[in-house]
Amino acid sequence: MGDARCSACDLLAGARSVPGGLLLRQGGFALHALDGPSPIPGWLVLTAERHCRAVADLDPEAAAALGPLVQRVMRAQRSALQAEHVYLFAIGDQLLHAHLHLVPRYASTPGRLRGRGCFEARPEDLRPAEELAAAARLVAEALAPGRP
Ligand SMILES: [Zn+2]
Repeated sequence: MGDARCSACDLLAGARSVPGGLLLRQGGFALHALDGPSPIPGWLVLTAERHCRAVADLDPEAAAALGPLVQRVMRAQRSALQAEHVYLFAIGDQLLHAHLHLVPRYASTPGRLRGRGCFEARPEDLRPAEELAAAARLVAEALAPGRP
């Protein structure tokens, strides 16, 4: 595994928790809610199971699994949360462990939190952990085996 100071490796190892817990482990990735305060219920992160710097450094198997997995999660976010749209971001300036942000946009999402604005949330925008956990679990249910 990666170095002990990697918060993503800690999360995968169960040493950190996020609202709703780990929602899915598949294709070399773990799906979970954003690790930290969030202004958007259902803001999820796909984190590579193996510590590597970026999407460019994924194993071939994980790279091949990524597209279908992203599509499946986005569809679950749209259906389970009635999201109008889902943004996909790969930034990686702060957390040096490959991950993608999948951020729903709702009809009610204020303009300043749309698009990359979700990263500029103010303290009053942050949602309660219970609400974040509930949204994450709804997506997990939609992703459960046997569901379309
Ligand atoms: Zn790591």
